[in-house]
Amino acid sequence: MKKILVLPVVLVLLVFSCTKMAQDPMANVPDLSSTVEIPVNAQGVPFQRTCASYEVHQQQLKDNPGLAKKMADIEAFTKKVSSDPSAYRLVSPGVYEIPVVVNVLYRTTEENISDVQIQSQIQVLNADFAATNADIIKIPNTFTNVKAGNTNLRFVLAQIIRKSTTKTSWGTNNSMKSTLNGGINPTSPTTNMNMWVCTIGGGILGYAQFPGGSSATDGIVIDSKYVGVTSNSGPSAPYNLGRTATHEVGHWLNLRHIWGDSRCGNDQVNDTPAHDAANYGCPAPGLKSLCKGGPIEMTMNYMDYTNDACMYMFSSGQKTRMMALFAQGGFRNSFAQP
Ligand SMILES: [Zn+2]
Repeated sequence: MKKILVLPVVLVLLVFSCTKMAQDPMANVPDLSSTVEIPVNAQGVPFQRTCASYEVHQQQLKDNPGLAKKMADIEAFTKKVSSDPSAYRLVSPGVYEIPVVVNVLYRTTEENISDVQIQSQIQVLNADFAATNADIIKIPNTFTNVKAGNTNLRFVLAQIIRKSTTKTSWGTNNSMKSTLNGGINPTSPTTNMNMWVCTIGGGILGYAQFPGGSSATDGIVIDSKYVGVTSNSGPSAPYNLGRTATHEVGHWLNLRHIWGDSRCGNDQVNDTPAHDAANYGCPAPGLKSLCKGGPIEMTMNYMDYTNDACMYMFSSGQKTRMMALFAQGGFRNSFAQP
């Protein structure tokens, strides 16, 4: 009896999801927040940092047959620029301004974060990407010769768009980026970095789309609790210093996780050491990798998984990789136009 009842429901769901797919090619990305189990505390804050960028990317590679080639082309271009930066004149030498459009989706007053809170996030991005963050002095001697210094990227708040919703969580299937799915479409994504602020769910702090993906979903997503700076004793700690966005903007600018998303994996950057895997919490500097050569791990790199207070640097190689996007022919060259 049960089976007979279930079948029509399945059929209806299939028809519905096919219709949805036809209208919105992004709608078939599964929601990782419901398929991965991340331990969280009573406030829903994960015990360990979790970013869904790699997993969402893997899914997009499966769904979009052209994406792998596009990414390979971007990688080849990045390698060329990195090996001979002087051959690639950056379009506007000096500072690149990245206008940021913040799309806030809220059901509760806590989710409807204030303008001041958003501005504190912009300040953190500007400090971290200019290497004027107060904690940069903590970089151990091992890494002072490979620190990025000023990346010459400036983030400017362009617009805040707010939308009330009944959704309790949005997952990682990009529905927050689509008006059709109750979210907010990106605003001019080839000249603005769009940031969606909403409850993601599943203990996921944020995720970003790598260069090469569809402009319809380009940008970063940060869970409302982890935007900007909040109190150390508040419910967002230890992810309360705005570093989730620094990490996600790193992905948006083509940086990989420092462990290369596999054991002693490759993050495509020469001056970062091999890491066994992600580091969590706040490891003491000097942690040795079990990878070949036993290098000291750069646990304080923004692209590791450590706590906000324990990540405070990009490497010089990471900077070159980010800059390559803005060169003529680079994926984010549209941001470098006057
Ligand atoms: Zn990440």
